[in-house]
Amino acid sequence: MKIARIETFMVEIPIVAEKRMISALGKHEVSRYVVVRLTTDTGVEGAGEATVMPRWSGESVWGTKAVIDHVLAPLLIGRDPENFAEIDSVMDRACAHNWFAKSAIEMACWDVVGKERGRPVYELLGGACRSLAVRCRFSMGAYDLERARRRAGELVEEGFDTIKVKVGGLPADDVARVRAVREVIGPDRQLTIDANCGWNVSTAIWCIRELEESRLALVEQPTPDGDYSALKAVRAAVTPPIMADDMCFDLIHAKELVRRKACDLISVYPGKQGGIRKCKELVEYAGRHHVACSIGSNLEWDIATAAMAQLCVALPNLQVERYPGDMLGPVYHEQRIVTNPIDIRGPVVTITDRPGLGIDVDWAQVQRLSIR
Ligand SMILES: [Mg+2]
Repeated sequence: MKIARIETFMVEIPIVAEKRMISALGKHEVSRYVVVRLTTDTGVEGAGEATVMPRWSGESVWGTKAVIDHVLAPLLIGRDPENFAEIDSVMDRACAHNWFAKSAIEMACWDVVGKERGRPVYELLGGACRSLAVRCRFSMGAYDLERARRRAGELVEEGFDTIKVKVGGLPADDVARVRAVREVIGPDRQLTIDANCGWNVSTAIWCIRELEESRLALVEQPTPDGDYSALKAVRAAVTPPIMADDMCFDLIHAKELVRRKACDLISVYPGKQGGIRKCKELVEYAGRHHVACSIGSNLEWDIATAAMAQLCVALPNLQVERYPGDMLGPVYHEQRIVTNPIDIRGPVVTITDRPGLGIDVDWAQVQRLSIR
């Protein structure tokens, strides 16, 4: 089987009003991502999604389409989609970074290989090590107090037992928001925070200590991208486990985090890590060094969510029972682009044992939602 064609579609879908995200990275109200259709010489079609956000990885929908169409795709035509290491190596030699673009192509390769063999991706990855129904946390934006209280109440009603609150802005506002959410959700649910690089060391330590009575289960990326010493300093000064997210794309970043003992956990997902194979490699490396991983999110649609869930089911060190991850992206959006959406009910995301990624893209819908 060989790759015969790679097509790209720039697609735009708004976020539903009550789920619009506010974080240290700004507002996320509309998603513009690239959907990839990869066709083999045997006529098998696979799908990929580049869940790009310029402020997250520097990738935009326009740049991603160009890099796939003009740089990556021409080098991949005629290659075996099952040779994941070669696909990665060709893409890495062609251009640096562009994690989400590379990931979209790579996940489409897993999709076609799974479909060709009649097996779900999690089986190709070694088989399911947990249930196909995975419990997630909800990630709440950095809302004002009134909205945060109201939203926290709704999430309790919907059955969430882990809630993540975005922080990383003005310290006093952040502390007040987290305390308000703790008040609403009661003492028994898990509460975590994510600063998306928004604090410096002293602010992070001050806020986390102020929140001692809110009993944080986890503090995600308190300090800036690239500053391993800062993360390590915060970890040494506070009690809750520290998770690296926005600063860990490559295996080399994970190695540096481990070498410096800068974090307790790493947040991963195929898009950020540049693909399913690379994500697996990183998660297994972390596991060998006693660093847990959980699944993070960039508000994916069904295709990239399927890639996340397939990995989640297959990798023991994605410790989602203890540290619930987030695979709820599709329900943040006003529309779905597949004919068989992933089953998402409250906090529970359930995938099937259908071949490949297990989803069928509605290409007519993709065309309708396409932008130029
Ligand atoms: Mg994060």
